[in-house]
Amino acid sequence: MYDLIVIGGGPAGLTATVYAIRKRLNVLLLSKDLGGKTNYHLALPWIEDYQVIKGLEVVNKFRTELEYLDFARHIESVEKVEKNADHFKVTTKGKTTLEAKSVIIATGARQVRMDVPGEKQYTMKGLCYSALSYAPIFIDKSVIVIGEEDLALRSAGELATVAKEVTLVCANAKMMDSPLGKKLVAAKNVKVLSDCQVAEVKGDDYARTLVVKDSKGKLNEFHADGIFVEKALTPNTGMVKRLVDLDDQDRIIVDCACRTNVPGLFAAGDVTNGYAEQVLIAVGDGAKAALSAYDYLLPQL
Ligand SMILES: Cc1cc2nc3c(=O)[nH]c(=O)nc-3n(C[C@H](O)[C@H](O)[C@H](O)COP(=O)(O)OP(=O)(O)OC[C@H]3O[C@@H](n4cnc5c(N)ncnc54)[C@H](O)[C@@H]3O)c2cc1C
Repeated sequence: MYDLIVIGGGPAGLTATVYAIRKRLNVLLLSKDLGGKTNYHLALPWIEDYQVIKGLEVVNKFRTELEYLDFARHIESVEKVEKNADHFKVTTKGKTTLEAKSVIIATGARQVRMDVPGEKQYTMKGLCYSALSYAPIFIDKSVIVIGEEDLALRSAGELATVAKEVTLVCANAKMMDSPLGKKLVAAKNVKVLSDCQVAEVKGDDYARTLVVKDSKGKLNEFHADGIFVEKALTPNTGMVKRLVDLDDQDRIIVDCACRTNVPGLFAAGDVTNGYAEQVLIAVGDGAKAALSAYDYLLPQL
């Protein structure tokens, strides 16, 4: 029986695992990959690496450590986590069952795809999913934001403070009625398109053009230096949905020490209801979750 199983090898899970190793816990990291979403970077001809806060130094250090310590990691998808009396049963896709006294869920959240021609080809080549990370560098650029929820509004709002021109596509009337929505409607550098559908992404080496179908079925082309798809993320919580309290967006509810409502079960990073999806926040969460798990385990060590 492990002291701790960490599920998910992104910034949160890598950090939690290395913290647990330092605390001399008998820990296993189970993940589909190492690095998680830090394996994706937006490529644009005019972006310099230093302009974006990536937080990769610490993530890459922990990842190298885990690549070396092969006994502490196993690359496989997890299907289910159950609690039996005082311990947890973790079942992998290959139907292996592992037992642990405590578990940290760090499985992140996935982007919602548009499923239109050109999306796959241009993903991370001018077409991106994290305005939160990249908006500040769009000074004097033209940019398109796609989305019908608050996240898109917020992203368009931030981009409008620096960009030459922002086109918000698929906005719904309700969100445009909020204070930020009204500000955007009145802004000279913002164009809002409602009642429309994205039809295609086009470009050369990078995404350059968004093809949008209006309510009458007419196709219109919009050109930009960058395109952001800003739709709410889907948390990877399927494996624990009957075990732990989730919020209305299916994110795991945690307290400020990354504890869930289930004793011995912790969560960290984008999979939780914590504020903002950023690498450094996930790293901090991973550290907190591991230290909380250690406190939980201490009477049994
Ligand atoms: C395109 C893009 C660019 C970004 N750029 C930046 C940036 O420049 N700076 C910044 O601070 N943030 C950036 N972010 C946000 C940042 O990447 C995330 O906030 C961060 O990676 C979250 O870390 P995490 O460990 O919580 O989740 P993730 O990085 O998503 O890692 C989740 C891990 O869980 C694993 N997993 C999922 N399901 C299972 C399962 N069933 N079984 C086993 N393993 C599973 C995955 O394989 C992965 O290893 C960006 C995000 C995107 C999408």
